[in-house]
Amino acid sequence: MSLTFDFKPNPAPLATEEREGLLADPGFGRVFTDHMAVVQYTEGKGWHSARIQPREAIATDPASSVLHYAQEIFEGLKAYRHPDGSIALFRPDANARRLQNSAERMAMPALPEDIFVESVRALVRTDKDWVPSIPEGALYLRPFVFASEVFLGVKPSAEYIYAVIASSVGSYWKGGVKAISLWATKTYTRAAPGGTGAAKCGGNYAASLIALAEASRQGCDQVVFLDAVERRYVEELGGMNVFFVFADGTVRTPPLGGTILPGITRDSLIRLARDQGLTVEEAPYSIEDWQADAESGRLVEAFACGTAAVVTPIGRVKGDGFDFTVGSGGPGQLTERLHRQLTDIQFGRAADPYGWVQ
Ligand code: PMP
Repeated sequence: MSLTFDFKPNPAPLATEEREGLLADPGFGRVFTDHMAVVQYTEGKGWHSARIQPREAIATDPASSVLHYAQEIFEGLKAYRHPDGSIALFRPDANARRLQNSAERMAMPALPEDIFVESVRALVRTDKDWVPSIPEGALYLRPFVFASEVFLGVKPSAEYIYAVIASSVGSYWKGGVKAISLWATKTYTRAAPGGTGAAKCGGNYAASLIALAEASRQGCDQVVFLDAVERRYVEELGGMNVFFVFADGTVRTPPLGGTILPGITRDSLIRLARDQGLTVEEAPYSIEDWQADAESGRLVEAFACGTAAVVTPIGRVKGDGFDFTVGSGGPGQLTERLHRQLTDIQFGRAADPYGWVQ
């Protein structure tokens, strides 16, 4: 199914000078472009009213079901400026499919893949001047769907709004890539078997914030969640997947068992690592083994990965009664190499043998 996007230009876009001022140091998630994409859904009618329009507030009735029952899902991907001036998306089809999987879990209608990809392309085309040229800068795209029916009963909404907004971003970590410290919480879990862990729904993030606050109190940058059943196996961070690199050259990452988000960066790094002859196991890894292997030197590197922060080394891990350092405590060799290889493809500095870049 495809739809044509009507175009309603912003009559008062930000002045060039002001925009360029913001693009010199945009930070992360605070600078927004002039336009947004919107598509509506009505039960019985399907997806309709596709448009690129000025970015503006969306009026929501106080009885809109999203405000009460949190039927909401989202995505995150980036558009990159290439050396020849063109702009590229990285695997938008994978984000489209993940949004469909999230929709299924949250009893929401699936947005067809081509509407997703066209909405993102049309918005990037319209706001192309907002893609920064600074190193590691990109246009972060945030597609999302929320339940907009005005009704207080607990049931799937009969109406939804899909929208895409765009934010000019610099590097996620101010001051460049440095190793992060993690707090392994045993107080909170992120997702239980049968729950919503594999869906990118807002509620998962709301539920993770208290654990992040606990991590901050413990002096750590991020929280790492353990499985909800045994409270032993490493799952992921609040917004990133994790990888482990062993001295024998093997790589391990937690398996996709329904409780972690299937990261597109995770998937891409597995492919990159396997294609350079490395063994990558998708297998459970306990926090006890993590500590023992870090202390014995069997584990030499660990890193977190996701669209926003790309590949971020994990330097130190703390929890109730333990505190250990991974490798040198700084970025490891494979971590740095995979970071470079992935960003070289995304930014068009290297050939893309996978067809990931559009
Ligand atoms: N896990 C969680 C919980 C996330 O929110 C994200 C970010 N979308 C990731 C992992 C990484 O996913 P991706 O590589 O697709 O950005």
